Amino acid sequence: MNHTQSTLSASSALPTIVVGAGLGGLSAAIHLACQGRQVLVFEKNNLVGGKLNLVQAAGYTFDTGPSLFTMPWVIRDLFATAGRDVHDYLDLRLIEPACRYWWPDGTVFHAWQTMPQLVQEIARLSPLDVEGFFRFLAYTARIYRIVAPAFLLQPFDGLRDLLTPNLLRQGWQIDSLRSVDAAVRHFFRSPYLQQVFNRYATYNGSSPYLSPATFNVISYIEFAEGGWYVRGGMYELARALVRLAQELGIDIRTGTEVVEVLHRNQQAHGVRLSDGQSIAAATVVINADPRYAYQHLLRGQPRIATRLQRLEPSCSGFILLLGVDQIYEQLAHHTIFFSQDYPREFAAIFQKRVPAADPTVYVCATSLSDPHLAPPGHMNLFVLVNAPALTERVRWAREAPGYRDRIIQRLERMGLSDLRQHIVYEQMITPEDLQQRYHAAGGAIYGLASNTRFAAFMRPPLRAHGIQRLYFVGGGTHPGGGIPLVLLSGKAVANRIAVDWPLYHNGSM
Ligand SMILES: Cc1cc2nc3c(=O)[nH]c(=O)nc-3n(C[C@H](O)[C@H](O)[C@H](O)COP(=O)(O)OP(=O)(O)OC[C@H]3O[C@@H](n4cnc5c(N)ncnc54)[C@H](O)[C@@H]3O)c2cc1C
Repeated sequence: MNHTQSTLSASSALPTIVVGAGLGGLSAAIHLACQGRQVLVFEKNNLVGGKLNLVQAAGYTFDTGPSLFTMPWVIRDLFATAGRDVHDYLDLRLIEPACRYWWPDGTVFHAWQTMPQLVQEIARLSPLDVEGFFRFLAYTARIYRIVAPAFLLQPFDGLRDLLTPNLLRQGWQIDSLRSVDAAVRHFFRSPYLQQVFNRYATYNGSSPYLSPATFNVISYIEFAEGGWYVRGGMYELARALVRLAQELGIDIRTGTEVVEVLHRNQQAHGVRLSDGQSIAAATVVINADPRYAYQHLLRGQPRIATRLQRLEPSCSGFILLLGVDQIYEQLAHHTIFFSQDYPREFAAIFQKRVPAADPTVYVCATSLSDPHLAPPGHMNLFVLVNAPALTERVRWAREAPGYRDRIIQRLERMGLSDLRQHIVYEQMITPEDLQQRYHAAGGAIYGLASNTRFAAFMRPPLRAHGIQRLYFVGGGTHPGGGIPLVLLSGKAVANRIAVDWPLYHNGSM
């Protein structure tokens, strides 16, 4: 028996082990520590944060994952659970505008976060749509009122959890029979505004032409509660969670890969690390993607592994990090350059599963809000294009350089003159990199897609099927991907563990 194993198993209270220090894993660890549990987190990478990550090079700092988050109360609640005030850890900022949108014909639209300004902007672009916008807000608010308690505030583990009298009575109002796009077209006449509101389906990695209109709730959440940024860069969020975790006594070991979750007699009892050590645990929480976990970490579960492989992953992303020695006035903190043909773009990504020939390009320039993230007179551009989850059809090692050129040309056409001459630092991140760095099956950004009415019910549950003391947390389980949802997933899984394995006063279960 090695040193770590003997120390841990000698203690009367074995730790809860969390596999992965993504945001879901860190949230679960913090909630579990707040219950008085000993928590040990293993993260294979040298930096915590999972898909919320960071590159610092040549004087530039780039966030490489999320650039915006919604539902700020989720972060506030997480810190409050630990008796802390989030404002002592993080400076949360609303960014104005939430996004600047450009179309190939030169049309521009600013999605202001202040309602009177937003309404004025809608009126400027399409006066007849102002009325429709207010009706759309009322419609999405109604959906939020019904789905938030059932899907977000109390993530469910199966249909039985969902069959509440409230949901059964009001279920028909959540508009799950038509697509996001069909509903959006009902409220807005302007094709520009239709594209703006359809875009919210991509916040969970899905297609507006396939995912149920229920997901119009995403735009409501952003309009009602704001689109937020963390001063200093989004990675400050990971840093703050680590600081809180350390204050709570959570042991986070980076650069430490788990290669097997140990289970016997249908009970999880520890993990094996890549150096061969076995660490005993009272319970194990897997933050790694469940599809990867069933294939690589859990022996003897082939049926579930095969079932999960059949589920549709969310889209992936093709990313360019560009340090440029030029300030481009076309760019706001968040800028979208829309494609000419949105339906075609999504058909390429989700049906043909190939990169879109004319993709919508998202550019985030955090240096506009935090100048110290780039040298003076320079910008740190995070460029993201939705890409299909990995298939045999696309070999990114071969495709990436050409796709990169296409995106740069597109940005130059949209007014970022001579962009290629102004690139001082550059890094590409492909779907293959996302898969390899975070063990994200298919390189999926948000776990599973929500392109069908039933997708939410197909997600692997928080409590693993058939193995006690084993749980999942994060974008691959409930309630889904995206910063607030994976943080909520951490809270939900800790609540499940509290119910299943209550702690006695001496710290044992
Ligand atoms: C490019 C990009 C843009 C995005 N934009 C946004 C956005 O603007 N807003 C938003 O809200 N969300 C966004 N997201 C989604 C968001 O980042 C994710 O939903 C969220 O961060 C996922 O957190 P998670 O806890 O599910 O796990 P992950 O971030 O996937 O973390 C899992 C962790 O487990 C570790 N791990 C895996 N296997 C092992 C193992 N065997 N042993 C030890 N460790 C292991 C991984 O290294 C990783 O650190 C974006 C994601 C990407 C990639």
